[in-house]
Amino acid sequence: MSGRHEKGVNVQVLLRCRPFSDDELRNNAPQVVTCNEYQREVAVSQSIAGKQIDRVFTFDKVFGPTSQQKDLYEQAITPIVNEVLEGFNCTIFAYGQTGTGKTYTMEGECKRSKSGRDGELPSHAGLIPRAVKQIFDTLEHQNAEYSVKVTFLELYNEEITDLLAHEEISRVVEDKQKKLLPLMEDGKGGVLVRGLEEEIVTSASEIFSLLERGSAKRRTAETLLNKQSSRSHSLFSITIHIKESTPEGEELIKCGKLNLVDLAGSENISRSGAREGRAREAGEINKSLLTLGRVITALVEHLGHIPYRDSKLTRLLRDSLGGRTKTCIIATVSPAVHCLEETLSTLDYAHRAK
Ligand code: ADP
Ligand code: MG
Repeated sequence: MSGRHEKGVNVQVLLRCRPFSDDELRNNAPQVVTCNEYQREVAVSQSIAGKQIDRVFTFDKVFGPTSQQKDLYEQAITPIVNEVLEGFNCTIFAYGQTGTGKTYTMEGECKRSKSGRDGELPSHAGLIPRAVKQIFDTLEHQNAEYSVKVTFLELYNEEITDLLAHEEISRVVEDKQKKLLPLMEDGKGGVLVRGLEEEIVTSASEIFSLLERGSAKRRTAETLLNKQSSRSHSLFSITIHIKESTPEGEELIKCGKLNLVDLAGSENISRSGAREGRAREAGEINKSLLTLGRVITALVEHLGHIPYRDSKLTRLLRDSLGGRTKTCIIATVSPAVHCLEETLSTLDYAHRAK
């Protein structure tokens, strides 16, 4: 590993602050987060014992409440997707308290905006549809054979379910449980999820129905099983194979993978961290979220041992974290005072990953 790390680890940390919600606006919620996009700084003001105290954090990029989906994509994600098209594996995480915009950033909300004209994406479309569009726009202009496959899974309590599986929801109701898929070693140093459905995608427009299918399944299972979505992770993976011919007539296969991870709400580790003993008893500790933090710290600090094996999420992402890969963490926060404590813990966590 160490040789591959000589050039430094490619971990980029972005901060996004969402706008006030309608509720917060109605209640005149005081604003405690201020973003300075040019200085790449976020300031959080707290009043402690009557004194106003500002804490300032710097990130690789900062996106304030008025930033649009398109801005974030063009400024931060386009180069990552270019790497994937060159045959590398990359991972993008959304990390933050529940309700701060992780899913909005990853998937977006297409119902909220009119669909754009001329193959333009709706303005609220998130990273996943934008990445798929960039991939097809590039591939369709290349003179090469290619294939694009996607998988979409959910990880809850260290158990994997397939968000694209065609099993009937009614069966889920009857059984009161979902089909769990085993994670196995593939014998080549990697892992595979047995039985996970791989969808071949042939155009960018198909992605919306896939996302809708996956998200609907996540929501239905959630309500039926009385599960809190804030404690599950979702992983959307896009794998591209490109067959090129060199001028000498040789065939070259490039394979790149992009992982888009909508993490469990970060309140799950900060709160359980504070009362770890009791939380552990209640099975509340989110092993994958904790291990991910340790893996990223180990990568950033060039530690010899990277604890990939300690959780399902890090085992799944092992071939896409560290080495010649790019990792991007998008930390999401709310501007409002009632989220202050979680906002500070998100900023601390994200800042440590830099
Ligand atoms: P999370 O997935 O982190 O729990 P959501 O993505 O569901 O949070 O966002 C919570 C609410 O805030 C949603 O209604 C979403 O539309 C809205 N929202 C979040 N981020 C933004 C943003 N940057 N711009 C506009 N609305 C946003
Ligand atoms: Mg969400």
